[in-house]
Amino acid sequence: MAASCIFCKIIKGEIPSMKVFESDRTFAFLDINPLSYGHALVIPKFHGAKLADIPDDSLQELLPVAKKIALASGAENYNILQNNGKLAHQVVDHVHVHMIPKPNEQEGLG
Ligand code: 5GP
Ligand code: ZN
Repeated sequence: MAASCIFCKIIKGEIPSMKVFESDRTFAFLDINPLSYGHALVIPKFHGAKLADIPDDSLQELLPVAKKIALASGAENYNILQNNGKLAHQVVDHVHVHMIPKPNEQEGLG
């Protein structure tokens, strides 16, 4: 945990979030500024900015949890995205996997 990290604060409940999953190693919640309806973030509880900063066992659930959320949300089309570093558009320095549903065209979003 890092005292100044907003995602660590979300894990601890110090900043509110729309939680969608939690286990001993993993936490998931809805993005505050969604690119589409259901845009979720899956994060390890272990704090680290980039993949290389996180032990493998804390990374293992990230993709399976993103898959579960996609299935539970009913999204048939979606993007999984994970940014490392400022030049790669990472804004929050706590590893996170985006699950971004791609709505059907007639739904008019995304
Ligand atoms: P990045 O560009 O670092 O991969 O994406 C960071 C994501 O975190 C963005 O999509 C942004 O909307 C989301 N985010 C930033 N601060 C908060 C917050 O306080 N709560 C939630 N739920 N999402 C946040
Ligand atoms: Zn953190």
